[in-house]
Order: sequence, then C-alpha cells, then structure tokens
Amino acid sequence: MTYLDYAATSPIREVARSAWLEASELLNAGGQYQSGRKARAAVSTARETIASLLNCEPIEVIFCASGTEADNIAIRGLYAQSELNRVVCSPIEHPAVLETVQALDSAEIDWLPVDAQGRVSDWSAASVPAALVTSMWASNETGAVQPLPVSDSPIHVDAVQAIGHVPVSFAESGATTMAASGHKFGGPHVGLLLASRSLHASPLTGGGQERKLRPGTVDVAGAVATAAALEEAVAEMEAEQTRLAALRDRLISFIRQMPDTLIHTSEPALPGHVHVSFPGAEGDSLIMLLDVLGIEAATGSACSSGVNRASHVLLAMGVSERDARSALRFTLGRGTTETDIEKLESVLPDVVERARLAGMA
Ligand code: PLP
Repeated sequence: MTYLDYAATSPIREVARSAWLEASELLNAGGQYQSGRKARAAVSTARETIASLLNCEPIEVIFCASGTEADNIAIRGLYAQSELNRVVCSPIEHPAVLETVQALDSAEIDWLPVDAQGRVSDWSAASVPAALVTSMWASNETGAVQPLPVSDSPIHVDAVQAIGHVPVSFAESGATTMAASGHKFGGPHVGLLLASRSLHASPLTGGGQERKLRPGTVDVAGAVATAAALEEAVAEMEAEQTRLAALRDRLISFIRQMPDTLIHTSEPALPGHVHVSFPGAEGDSLIMLLDVLGIEAATGSACSSGVNRASHVLLAMGVSERDARSALRFTLGRGTTETDIEKLESVLPDVVERARLAGMA
C-alpha cells in the first residue's frame, strides 16, 4: 500500500509508541501523593521538552485533545475576554478555525483577501483593532506557507500542519495563541495549545488543570509521547525537508507534463504537499480509482471528503467550482519512498483518463 495522506494523519513513530507504553502506567498528575508526583514530573518534562522545541515557556504549553480543540479554546477564549466583537480571519482556514469563528456570538468577521496562490495578500484589516486576528501557518490543502500576521490585536495561528515539519518559534511568531496536533507529526492524537499568559478565558469549565484553559485529568502518556514524537520530528526536520521536497518536486514535474493539469501548490510550501486539479475528472473518482490500485490520497478538503463539494480554499483562490471538484492532494511523509512516487507515476495518467471518461456528476 502506498500511503500519500500524511497531512490527514501520520503513522505513529516508534519513539512515541514506546514512550507512550512506558508512561501508560502513570496515574493522576494532579494527585498529592507519590504516584501523582511521578505522573506530574513526567508531564512537566514533556512540557519542558515541547517548550524548548517550539521556543516558548513551559507554562505556555497546554495539553488538550486535538488540533480542533486547541483552535476552539484559543479562538473562543480570546473572543470571550475581549470587549470587541470584530474578528479578522483568512478565508482559507481549516474548518476547525473557520467554523469556530463563524459560530462566535455576534461576531463581525472581516475576511482577509487571498491571492491565486492561496496566500493572504493584504493585512490592512489586521491593523484595525479586533478581538482576534486568525490566520494559519501553512495550508492543509495546498501546503502554502503563509506570511505571519502582524497586528496589535491578539493573534491566533493554526500551526497544525507546520509544527514538526518546518521550524516554528512561538516567541518570534508574535502569536498570542497557536494550535498544533500530535498525530500530524507522528505522535498520538493529542492537541497542543500554545498560549501566552494573557489568555485567561476558556470555553471549557471544570477543574484547574492546564491553567484552567483545558480542564480535565491530563493524558500523561499522551503528553509524554507527543514530546517524544516532536523531539524526533525536529531532529530529523532538515534532512526530511530536503528528502521530501525532492520527491515532491519530482512528482510535480511529472504531473506538469501530463495534459491539462492545474498545480495549486507553490513555494514557499510545506515539503510534502502536492495539490493539483485534473479538470474534467471528479476528485472522488480519482481517489477511488487510486485506492483500488493500493494508493491512498485525498481531495484535500477536510469538509468535502466523501461529499464531493468544491474546496472553499480553492474557490477563495479563484479556481472555478468545476476545477475545484477535480482536486487531488498527495501528502508525502516519513515513510514515503521513491518507489511510492514511481508507483503513483506509473498509474496516474491512466487513472486520470479513466476518471475523465467517467465524467463529472
Ligand atoms: N487545522 C489544520 C490546518 C488541520 O490540517 C487540521 C487537521 O487536518 C486541524 C486543524 C484539526 O486537527 P485535529 O485533527 O487534530 O483536530
């Protein structure tokens, strides 16, 4: 099987699995007794490791359930503690941000403009005071690395696709809050919220864990395994970036010489993303035909997978609805080899031709 959907989720790293197993017997990190102190020490070490890898203070690392939860806590929390109801958001966000912003009570949303390459093109809206400005570090669809927002208002950055893949410094980013997700870099399904001390409101209520921002008994083994995965991801980052970018460039060159294609990925981009449209072919047909041949890819749009809807990201980039429905996303990762790319290249032209023959719904 050739797995080319690493941006959706990545296989767990061996270091994370063994760290998880070792820590899985630890008990309540809130306990005021010996086993509690032991569990708390493990969480503290994991927090310190993550803080040093992402250049933030340990107190700024909040363990939570998922990238989606981290985005929710940050956005809802920043909004709740502000007197303003203006929110500035890019239209190419993942639904974890987009739908959260749209669900804010009485929010007035100012959408940032994006160019044809899927990058925010004008930040002037961010200079008008707002409860928060939110824009992602890198697109889960195109892989486009975004310019970082500059604003005097609190900034939330969804760095779920970036952390573990490209260098990220929370301190230097200017962000107030940032979201990451362990399973995107070979860790467990644990979310990371980086939150400066100024965030004090949370949509969640409960105990006092995680600065009260994310109450609930801490997943000790999950925290330990996330730190182990991030440590290895950062140690390998430079070499992996070079290796994956070479495979990605080879695949893009191959696709470019196929007839009638639209490449949506442009530099600067994450090293493993190839987002492309094959006009006249339905994205879902392409996925099914590839799946039969043992190749796993995605349309790239989290909300449209299986529903056959055009991606809001491509529409915001000015791609026509028809061409957006012909999109396919390959995301390469740690286990991707040259053989995988050769296999894909050997079947792709025929798959596209067959999908085009089947036509569009
Ligand atoms: N933000 C981005 C950019 C993502 O790509 C994803 C997942 O695909 C999420 C948020 C949500 O992360 P999780 O699946 O951990 O909830």
